[in-house]
Amino acid sequence: MKGTKKCPHCGHWSPWNQEITDRCQNCHRLLDPAAYERQAAQEERKEEESKRFTLDFIRINPDDPYFLKFFKSIGLGFQLAFAGIVSFILWLIAVLAG
Ligand SMILES: [Zn+2]
Repeated sequence: MKGTKKCPHCGHWSPWNQEITDRCQNCHRLLDPAAYERQAAQEERKEEESKRFTLDFIRINPDDPYFLKFFKSIGLGFQLAFAGIVSFILWLIAVLAG
């Protein structure tokens, strides 16, 4: 699909392939900066979410006192069980939907 788009920066009409990375032929700036920012924000959010998920798991340090290790192990066990239940439910939904 080919078309033209008016550059929001200089008003020059440029060929546009409906790609967010398309640039103006006149000033070489992005023809659709809003879409570009939207995608960048989306990717950032995705990355943050995956980071948060791994950070949420309790870390057990080798130097922790034994009682702290004990409680952390219980907490970690619960977290792993919860993650297992959630993925099981997601799997179940996928199977039932299919
Ligand atoms: Zn331009």
